[in-house]
Amino acid sequence: MGGGPAGLTAGIYAARGRLDVILLEAKPLTGGQIATTDIVENYPGFPEPVSGAELMDRMRKQAERFGLPFATADITKITPRDDGFLLEGARTSYLARAVIVATGTEPRRLGVPGEKEFWGMGVTTCATCDGPLYRDKPVAVVGGGDSAVKEAVYLTNFASVVYLLHRRDRLRAETVIQEQALANDKIDVRWDTVVTAMLGDAESGLTGLALQNVKTEEASELAVDCVFLYVGVLANTDMVEGLVALDDAGLIITDNDMATNVPGIFAAGDCRSKTLKQVATAVGEGAAAAFSAQEYLTGGPYGAGC
Ligand SMILES: Cc1cc2nc3c(=O)[nH]c(=O)nc-3n(C[C@H](O)[C@H](O)[C@H](O)COP(=O)(O)OP(=O)(O)OC[C@H]3O[C@@H](n4cnc5c(N)ncnc54)[C@H](O)[C@@H]3O)c2cc1C
Repeated sequence: MGGGPAGLTAGIYAARGRLDVILLEAKPLTGGQIATTDIVENYPGFPEPVSGAELMDRMRKQAERFGLPFATADITKITPRDDGFLLEGARTSYLARAVIVATGTEPRRLGVPGEKEFWGMGVTTCATCDGPLYRDKPVAVVGGGDSAVKEAVYLTNFASVVYLLHRRDRLRAETVIQEQALANDKIDVRWDTVVTAMLGDAESGLTGLALQNVKTEEASELAVDCVFLYVGVLANTDMVEGLVALDDAGLIITDNDMATNVPGIFAAGDCRSKTLKQVATAVGEGAAAAFSAQEYLTGGPYGAGC
């Protein structure tokens, strides 16, 4: 389940291993979160940066070469049965003897007034999709991690100025990404700053942000045409809630071989409880999960789980 880097890699290994496998992806196009970013610089094998969409297109073509079938299905429930697991989607259900959950995460929203109202009208979580619409306009990015800082740098290709709004007094992003951002004249970092409301009107959409400095409590307004949110993620694990062990953030707990506490259910990628959420880790875990599922199906040791 899941057509991002983890699910596609699991699919490549399972199809190449001649398992009777299908990849179920909720959205019409596979690729997952990385397909929404313009530049990937840290995935090995690409000395020059590659776009997330191209990287995922290549993974998909590789999976197709090994005959991996795909279906569009948003799986909402998994029920154990004597003969395996029933995976229920809105239109179709599937019966599987083993399941690899590679459903990743969703971007978290801020939950401030105006966010819902202006969603898609100047409030977004995808710089690659919406950045080119704001050529020579002021935009803001909210967040201080890798995604926020990387996407802020990308947005300087279009925007007149990119305000990077961060609630702390230093960034969490990788040093190399921070260096790129802090050296960029178009990026204006506003430290210790939170968004308290999104401002605008029905005709123009978003026109600005209400801000507050968390140290001085000073309130201000910032005129921007778009705000890009990178404020963390929510686990896409509702379908296994109450079935497999999850951590406090709702992420799936596995052992080193990607086995959950339920024999026959494996997990890989960002939906797993782990520290480094990247393509390089997702593909490694997808490969390991497929291997463990194969061992489980053929009587190997990985049914016991964690
Ligand atoms: C803006 C941004 C920039 C990034 N830049 C980099 C970078 O430069 N380098 C890097 O290594 N990583 C980067 N990452 C992180 C990287 O995208 C993730 O680590 C990676 O995509 C995780 O892969 P995954 O397969 O686990 O999950 P995802 O890519 O999230 O894929 C999960 C898939 O599962 C599907 N799905 C969800 N629920 C269901 C369901 N119920 N049924 C069926 N399908 C479902 C989703 O639609 C999705 O396609 C970036 C992330 C973001 C947001």
